[in-house]
Amino acid sequence: MKLEEEAHKFMKQKNKSTIMASIYQSSAKETAIFPKDKALEYLTLGLVGESGEIANKIKKIIRDKIPSANWKTDLPNEIGDVLWYCAMLADYLDADLGAIMENNLEKLQSRKKRGVLGGSGDNR
Ligand SMILES: [Mg+2]
Repeated sequence: MKLEEEAHKFMKQKNKSTIMASIYQSSAKETAIFPKDKALEYLTLGLVGESGEIANKIKKIIRDKIPSANWKTDLPNEIGDVLWYCAMLADYLDADLGAIMENNLEKLQSRKKRGVLGGSGDNR
């Protein structure tokens, strides 16, 4: 059995998805309907809007002191909406979502090793 198949089987047993970011990105593009001459503005506003939906749901949990009955499914759905805009922004920039994810992890792991996870500044 190939390593990829073993990994897929293992993740399936753990009830985890094995979708690749690059595949998600290209599939998400099939649902991208917006004015291409305003793509950067549209995608940025969409990303902020969907992030705001997450913030609003969290705000209501704080306000009501009790999460809604569906909060554990509602929030991941909103995370998915944020992901869609991230994938389309990456596509607009001709960047691969998987590569962005890997680079981000490398950056954070490097900061962790160097003890600079806290603090501020993009290039620490
Ligand atoms: Mg949404």
